[in-house]
Amino acid sequence: MNNEYVPQRVMSIHAHPDDQEFSVGGTLAKWAQAGCEIISVVITSGDSGSNDPSKDGSYKPILAELREKEQLAANAMLGIKETVFLRYPDGELQPTIELRKELTRLIRQFKPDTVLVGNPEGWFYGDEYLNHADHRAAAQATCEAVFPSAGSRLIFADLLPAGYEPHDVRRLYIHGTDKSNTWIDITETMDLKINALQQHVSQINPDEVGKWMRDWATEEAGDKGMKYAESYKVMTLIREKGED
Ligand SMILES: [Zn+2]
Repeated sequence: MNNEYVPQRVMSIHAHPDDQEFSVGGTLAKWAQAGCEIISVVITSGDSGSNDPSKDGSYKPILAELREKEQLAANAMLGIKETVFLRYPDGELQPTIELRKELTRLIRQFKPDTVLVGNPEGWFYGDEYLNHADHRAAAQATCEAVFPSAGSRLIFADLLPAGYEPHDVRRLYIHGTDKSNTWIDITETMDLKINALQQHVSQINPDEVGKWMRDWATEEAGDKGMKYAESYKVMTLIREKGED
């Protein structure tokens, strides 16, 4: 597949504020610079993202508000103008029919040709990171919304009278998989990716994250002839005319 392919309209769907910046920020910044319109969907607002012993449940709405601001700042840096917060509870996400329907509605509303998402099969990364259950739930609900729900007229038929006609997503970009078939060269947008991630000051140490992200992107690039890369398993659900 041609690495230089640029979608026209992309929906990036993730569980928490900062997931997008860790995983696909370089790709989104690159596509935004090339004129792609990007919609960022954040399913929870990260309201459980603190282990400060002085805090209890009353801190959750305050943290959610803070993290939404951080996400908006990160999105502005990446060139993303549209952000949707669904405000599900952080740490309790399930791939429910309710969530699938909400994502289906958004896909039908914004009509992305491409959707970016995590890996619904991702459990173990290396020997030290057990994947967050919310990441899997978000990815599963998204994949199931992309197909078959978004394009099938009579699934969630009550969306029709509300004006949400079926929409077919052409490509699905899945990150966090060892089955990648596409590498995006993010050398030019590596700094932007780091700067966007550094907006999430409630979650990360801005001084440390740069080296870590560069090491990771170098590893992703492997022997592909790129300095920094993000890799994906790309599912081409509908081919365009003349496409291989
Ligand atoms: Zn996360």
